[in-house]
Amino acid sequence: MAEALEIPGVSASPGVGVGPVHLAAEFTAEALAPGDTVAAEGDRLRQAVATAVAELEALAYRSDEESAGILDFQIEMLLDPALVEMAEERIVAGDGAALAWFGALDDYIAGIEEAPDEQLRARAVDIVDIRNRVLSALTGRPLEDFAPGSVFVGKDLEPSLFLAHDWTAGGGIVLFEGSASSHVAMLARSRSVPMLVATGRFEVAAGARVLVDASNARAVIAPDDGHVREAKSRKPAVRPTASRAGGAIQTADGVAIRLSAIMNDPRDLEAIDPASFAGIGLMRTEFLVTSPADAFDEEKHYDIYRHALDWAGESPAIVRMLDLGGDKTLPGLGARRSESFMGLRGIRLLLARPELARAQARALLRAAVHGNLGVLLPMVTVPGELDAMRAIFEEESTALGKRGLQTRMPEIGMMVEVPAAALMLDRFSRSDFFSFGTNDLAQYLAAAARDDQSVAALYDAATPAVYRVIAQGVALAEAMNKPIGICGEMASDPRHIPALIAAGLRQFSVAPNRVADIGSTIGGMCSDGGPRRR
Ligand code: PEP
Ligand code: MG
Repeated sequence: MAEALEIPGVSASPGVGVGPVHLAAEFTAEALAPGDTVAAEGDRLRQAVATAVAELEALAYRSDEESAGILDFQIEMLLDPALVEMAEERIVAGDGAALAWFGALDDYIAGIEEAPDEQLRARAVDIVDIRNRVLSALTGRPLEDFAPGSVFVGKDLEPSLFLAHDWTAGGGIVLFEGSASSHVAMLARSRSVPMLVATGRFEVAAGARVLVDASNARAVIAPDDGHVREAKSRKPAVRPTASRAGGAIQTADGVAIRLSAIMNDPRDLEAIDPASFAGIGLMRTEFLVTSPADAFDEEKHYDIYRHALDWAGESPAIVRMLDLGGDKTLPGLGARRSESFMGLRGIRLLLARPELARAQARALLRAAVHGNLGVLLPMVTVPGELDAMRAIFEEESTALGKRGLQTRMPEIGMMVEVPAAALMLDRFSRSDFFSFGTNDLAQYLAAAARDDQSVAALYDAATPAVYRVIAQGVALAEAMNKPIGICGEMASDPRHIPALIAAGLRQFSVAPNRVADIGSTIGGMCSDGGPRRR
């Protein structure tokens, strides 16, 4: 039997998984056949693209709505003539169709992959998907299946592949690169899929048995039963219990705290008991749209918000408007460098593309009739942005009323994640409520990108500054008599809870699978952040 080999990494989603390795498929140029005439190769390429489009359409037809959205995006990319034209230039220069397609897309992918932020990297993996499907049509080589229960091992994993995969049979994720702050990592945490990132490249055979012991920041190739037993015996129990009825909990000295749920994917709602939460404190919406068409699809937005409101019952369901840009770019909506973490992101992008904001606002205004809806605005920096978005809601409400449609103006609050706003909350009196987005607040305070592992230590070092800004913001919000809470990842990490409660926070939005840990931490401490006293 092969000897066990331990690979250290960074834990991006705790837990333990074991299964056979699925190695991310890699096409190589060497295997590609030489070409025929320019005209024949051009025809072959166009036919392969048409085959890929037809395959995707057939798959989309058989898929649920969310998967179909992902496939529709790929179809749109393939129908964009720019990609084929790049390959045709290479055919004219003498390459066969397969080599030309591979070369053109690989150059494109390499350029994107060199970008330091995940915004562009996320786009690169989508292009890899498309590249492989067309190459499969050109070469007859089938696309690899990703069997349930496998451990995915590769350079990175795109959110669409994560969302399309059946994780119910277990398995896990080990990435040579990747980041614990990426959105795939957040999705993995919310679905309890163990995930390890930043391992560096290592050799492992497809099908080899691998243990993902993400709770201990390691993977073990060819583990023995002792490794597996030991890792599993340390697995934390994280199931919500009924003791936090309605998400209400008290510190040991009797201070009331509210725990609401973070939602990244409406499908997660089915598995979560609403009785354990004070509603939804943050529903991200960028994960609900997988193509530009989705982003503008008012009915799709409306159905999802209705579903969230039904789940929450009388409790609030706080939906955040699209926070595109930064590491959450929607390819096809004109991703540019200006949409980096420091650029046209969140409300900046929504106000620059008001048709996007208007479609979402209409869906929110209509859904608000059916429950206790709140709307969160991402990346607010100055009060004028809040006013401009309110004006959009008011105009759309009037227009919907003229069409005879029922609407209700929801409470509109803001994420507190840009330091210039966090330090000046008293200027934001038109915000109905506030929610600290510490994932971004920390990166902007430390000038250390949240998805760059090489500056992770600096990102962590910003923690005391984050606590201080929070304490000041809570005091300002209290003076204005406005609710204030937190929805960044810090709120789901028991290590930060004492300092956050000592800073005055009483409303926490947490990843559903962390709620038991957070609840027991709060129950065992006093509101000054100290331990329970006898
Ligand atoms: C945050 O910044 O803390 C946050 C909750 O939003 P996101 O992680 O989606 O940027
Ligand atoms: Mg944020």
